[in-house]
Amino acid sequence: MIRAASRRGIRCVFVQGEDVMEQLKELIRYEPGINLEPVPCRCSECNGELRKVEEGEEAILQDKSYVPMAKIGKCDFWVCKTCGRVYWQGSHWRNMRLQLQRLTKSYH
Ligand SMILES: [Zn+2]
Repeated sequence: MIRAASRRGIRCVFVQGEDVMEQLKELIRYEPGINLEPVPCRCSECNGELRKVEEGEEAILQDKSYVPMAKIGKCDFWVCKTCGRVYWQGSHWRNMRLQLQRLTKSYH
């Protein structure tokens, strides 16, 4: 993974932490100016690339029973190009952002 990324000229950091917050701490140590706004780019199911669901593509969302209908049109959605899993900014997201803010503060 790292080698593939380096070949394409992408800077990478090999993180060894056990959990996500540990990994984030390591990342911040290497790259203090990192933008931690958690925009999804990889599918957690299959590691496929995600793309934003555009206006007019609501059918993709309505197709998935786990997507809360009330959210459609109210927040951003992403869909995995490989397996079609849908992601959106839910409560998990807010928690993540809060924890990230706390982390970045402790390093600045
Ligand atoms: Zn996927």
